[in-house]
Amino acid sequence: MTTTRLAHAVVLGASMAGTLAAHVLARHAETVTVVERDELPEEARHRKGVPQGRHAHLLWSNGARLIEDLLPGTTDRLLAAGARRLGFPEDLVTLTGQGWQHRFPATQFALLASRPLLDLTVRQEALTRRNITVLQRTEAVDLTGDAGRVTGVVVRDIDSGRRTALEADLVIDATGRGSRLKQWLAALGVPALEEDVVDAGVAYATRFFQAPPGATTRFPAVNIAADDNVREPGRFGVVYPIEGGRWIVTLSCTRGARLPSTEEEFLPFARDLRHPVIADLLRDAEPLTPLYGSRSAANRRLYPERLDRWPDGLLVLGDSLTAFNPIYGHGMSSAARCAVTLDRELGQGAPSGPGDGHRIQKAIGAAVDDPWILAASKDIDYVNCRVDATDPRLVGVDTEQRLRFADAITAASIRVPEASEIVTDVMSLNAPQSELGSNRFLLAMRTGERRPELTAPPFSAEELAVVGLDASVLTPAAAGSAAAGPAPVG
Ligand SMILES: Cc1cc2nc3c(=O)[nH]c(=O)nc-3n(C[C@H](O)[C@H](O)[C@H](O)COP(=O)(O)OP(=O)(O)OC[C@H]3O[C@@H](n4cnc5c(N)ncnc54)[C@H](O)[C@@H]3O)c2cc1C
Repeated sequence: MTTTRLAHAVVLGASMAGTLAAHVLARHAETVTVVERDELPEEARHRKGVPQGRHAHLLWSNGARLIEDLLPGTTDRLLAAGARRLGFPEDLVTLTGQGWQHRFPATQFALLASRPLLDLTVRQEALTRRNITVLQRTEAVDLTGDAGRVTGVVVRDIDSGRRTALEADLVIDATGRGSRLKQWLAALGVPALEEDVVDAGVAYATRFFQAPPGATTRFPAVNIAADDNVREPGRFGVVYPIEGGRWIVTLSCTRGARLPSTEEEFLPFARDLRHPVIADLLRDAEPLTPLYGSRSAANRRLYPERLDRWPDGLLVLGDSLTAFNPIYGHGMSSAARCAVTLDRELGQGAPSGPGDGHRIQKAIGAAVDDPWILAASKDIDYVNCRVDATDPRLVGVDTEQRLRFADAITAASIRVPEASEIVTDVMSLNAPQSELGSNRFLLAMRTGERRPELTAPPFSAEELAVVGLDASVLTPAAAGSAAAGPAPVG
């Protein structure tokens, strides 16, 4: 229970991290002001400040549960609006670097919807508390205070250009990958933050399609992952069923591969993946949008916790703090983990004394450590990956040994039910990454019953009928080889 309350808290950014943080803060502060550069749409519409919103988004069960706890009824509202709840691994047909995954009974789930629908559904509930004010078309331009304490923020009205100083006893930066926090801190005289970057050069190309009738409710998601063993740039593709009877199809690659840059190149790229099933599915599907691209996919982590002194009155969370290669689908769940951590820490009392903010910031850093290491330790082994990192779990380790272990994990996860369950728990962020080194997992890998290797995508006859595909068009998979770690799905 909160014993003391903040007078005024300001949240910068009203995407997933800022919205959830503002909702939590409303319990611990007299008033909360949210500062957002965009106008926030009243319907599920794309907006400029969330450019990634045009690409495939999956909300893992860990994030979905945390959001449901904060905002009861969110899942039902999403499902009522057409979002899809997929059981994992059952409702996913996926080709990993080690071959096709058996569709074992679901042990976890993910919610699939367009990003604008996910944002709208969360925002409509999260920002309704009476003590929250949202300043739209307003941009944060600077922090006020000094290296010891942030006392507020200078904001600029986008339309009039007028600048105003907002005083606050807590400012939270949730402005995403484009955050100017490092410059703001430098202006206050705070020593430079340490930063790790693991950048596999991932790029996304996405189009929306009208799915065949029934395909968004009675057909699984499809994922084709890269074959990391060949030491070539990775190439990936996903088909996700979303609201409106649509498929969102995202194709992606790592640095060195060429992504489609025109609509004409979309299907050929999909056909050239390690299995052509995505192109087969799209052959007669009606495209609803042009091709959208994105190159904002590096893993990047700031370490405020490593500073000797962090300014009181300031916290950073969401993508501003740690951004991941989106292929793993961990960003929104991490935003939820940040918000829940903030709630827990503020529940012990409002930060009032020197060092309180540092303590909370450390806890937030710990909450995003698992998704960080899952993504960064996988991406670091892609050819052409640019690494500027000091995390000892990433640099200075035996790469061959890591790759061998990762291969063994994937091989077991796709064919051994007990191993699959543990990997699914870890990938959905419901179990710590350390579970992959546990005796339980090692035992499952060694002694679990290994199912036979699958030679083609494991669709049922009924599923093939839904999309009008004959089993013979499903060309047997290219020989699956080693993938370093669990298959990306985001
Ligand atoms: C291509 C792609 C695909 C992704 N797919 C997935 C997925 O499948 N699953 C998943 O969980 N995550 C995914 N992510 C990650 C996910 O989008 C983010 O982790 C999530 O949006 C949380 O980010 P955020 O709220 O911290 O920042 P953002 O979503 O980047 O939002 C920042 C907000 O701050 C506002 N803003 C920026 N600067 C200012 C300023 N100076 N003043 C005021 N407002 C400002 C912006 O307008 C915006 O509203 C994906 C990301 C990308 C790039």
